[in-house]
Amino acid sequence: MSDSFKAVVAEDVDGKTRVSIKQLTLGDLPDLDVLVEVAYSTLNYKDGLAVSGKGKIARRLPMVCGIDLAGTVLESKSPDWQPGDKVIVNGFGLSESQWGGYSQKQRVKSDWLIRLPSVFSLKQAMAIGTAGYTAMLCVLGLEQMGVRPEGREVLVTGGAGGVGSVAIAVLARLGYKVIASTGRAETHDYLKSLGAVGCIDRAALLEKGPPLQKERWAGAVDSVGSQTLANVLAQIAYGGAVAACGLAGGSDLPSTVLPFILRGVSLIGIDSVMAPRARRQTAWDRLARDLDRAKLDAMTTVEPMSQLPQLAEQILKGQVRGRMVIDVNA
Ligand code: NDP
Repeated sequence: MSDSFKAVVAEDVDGKTRVSIKQLTLGDLPDLDVLVEVAYSTLNYKDGLAVSGKGKIARRLPMVCGIDLAGTVLESKSPDWQPGDKVIVNGFGLSESQWGGYSQKQRVKSDWLIRLPSVFSLKQAMAIGTAGYTAMLCVLGLEQMGVRPEGREVLVTGGAGGVGSVAIAVLARLGYKVIASTGRAETHDYLKSLGAVGCIDRAALLEKGPPLQKERWAGAVDSVGSQTLANVLAQIAYGGAVAACGLAGGSDLPSTVLPFILRGVSLIGIDSVMAPRARRQTAWDRLARDLDRAKLDAMTTVEPMSQLPQLAEQILKGQVRGRMVIDVNA
């Protein structure tokens, strides 16, 4: 086994965080119980913040970036995992407090691992990645609040992004009538190919509106936040629900309690990073069942680690369509 490999490392250089590709050895890796040969990672919005340095994601330096990884177990001190097992890690502080997936090898805690569902390749698992698994957590949240396919339309904001694309594909497969909100008119055909029955211009959700508007949606998946989420809440029909997972448009929420107390609307908070194991497993089991893999492949682009600086800028500008897999060995 060669002892030297590539990783994307954030370091403190003269008080500033600098991110670059470095050579590491096994001796550099954290002392955790499972060593994984990483095949792929992904680019999520949070990775964009970390790699560009525009968001303070790492809580200690040096830090290997990348919030996701998929690969093969090389060594394990845990009886739960054997060499050769195909595994996934999403979140659990990777790229924040724990070294992450932009590395050809990584040591992780056995408790963080999810077994690769047999229907997916390692590449497809990272095409899903945190964004796709979060989209599934959102769908589970809507289901739990009683949002059913036979009801009114459901809205997905940030439609052409990672969370949005997977949410649309899953909801459409489950029979929901999905409307995608996007700022990119050129993605309408793409969004319809994923299963959206219609698209709206996200500009309509960006303007300040009354706290209660025409009841339009049975539910929504929101990855945008801020005024967009306030308008979505104001447009949810009586008894409906919004799964809020993102802040691509801002972390504020300029809303009132009126949708909650006059229409019984529910706001469901979605966190993927520290989600309990059982919930993660349910999400991955449901992705294996309810995500059309041809649609997944159609929304996926694969790029090498060396492209990460440019890709990070693109995702923060909302220019990445669908999901981006990072091939750590290219
Ligand atoms: P992407 O960049 O792939 O998607 C975000 C989409 O939001 C963009 O494609 C764009 O869609 C839309 N958008 C971007 N900027 C704005 C803006 N200023 N106003 C309105 N819409 C905007 O990111 P991801 O899908 O990876 O992540 C989406 C969000 O979800 C992020 O905020 C991320 O941090 C969060 N997230 C949270 C998780 C959790 O655990 N809670 C896990 C994963 C992600 P379009 O061009 O179609 O309008």
